[in-house]
Amino acid sequence: MNTSVMDKKVVLITGASRGIGAGILTHFCSDEYFVIGTATSEAGMEKIQHLLDTMNVQGMTLKLNLSSPEEIADFISALENTQLFIEILVNNAGQTEDNLALRMKTEQWMKVINSNLTGTFLLSQKLLKPMLKKRRGRIINISSVVASMGNPGQCNYSAAKAGVEAMTKSLAKEVASRGITINAVAPGFIDTDMTNKLKEDDKTKILSGIPVGYMGKPNDIAAAVSFLASDNARYITGHTLHINGGIYM
Ligand code: NAP
Repeated sequence: MNTSVMDKKVVLITGASRGIGAGILTHFCSDEYFVIGTATSEAGMEKIQHLLDTMNVQGMTLKLNLSSPEEIADFISALENTQLFIEILVNNAGQTEDNLALRMKTEQWMKVINSNLTGTFLLSQKLLKPMLKKRRGRIINISSVVASMGNPGQCNYSAAKAGVEAMTKSLAKEVASRGITINAVAPGFIDTDMTNKLKEDDKTKILSGIPVGYMGKPNDIAAAVSFLASDNARYITGHTLHINGGIYM
């Protein structure tokens, strides 16, 4: 590994192939950072590599599927093999599997809890160890406004994200004295593949409840993540920052 990489802060962004994650990755594309992005497939990894090449930054892509503890373990091994110290972890990857509670299958419940909540915990747990040794680090977890508001059809997802916010506070308390901050960002409705699959009727209903009158863009979330990762945010920890155009206040 050349010295220039050693001099950079290493940031890991999960689910960086599209949507909010790709927006966050773009925000870290500067000389200051070595950027690692994950996707669940080769095609997703190629998209990240293309983004890194286009922005002319140093970085790498890795495969990660948070739904499976075995794949998380493989990912951690691959990460350890790089011998890089991850100073900033952005737990962005997430997925929905909506259904009304009475129709929700146990697999749908488990899949969403496993990837959004358990996956976020397992990655944070692994990457905290070196952060504790170095006495510095940042973890930023992407939650959702539905953790606070609830949403019909999303019992699994809203419970997972509420869990992420509660976990953020507990972890933040455990490591605050060691120079590590842990925060969450709770987006409202952001224009990505995740919301593109909503029915037009549902979108119109949601839009009518957003005081600013439009859906957010990935950059609205990425800008806040980049601030929380910066030295200027050193006194903020255990916080959930809501970014939602006023839909929840
Ligand atoms: P998106 O466009 O659907 O992108 C999801 C990203 O996560 C992709 O990079 C995807 O990788 C990755 N991913 C999906 N399932 C995964 C799994 N099981 N393991 C590992 N990676 C996985 O979603 P988004 O809208 O950008 O959402 C990003 C984050 O913001 C999520 O945590 C989501 O819950 C949260 N959020 C979004 C909104 C919104 O309105 N969009 C609102 C609130 C919160 P592949 O490309 O390989 O599939």
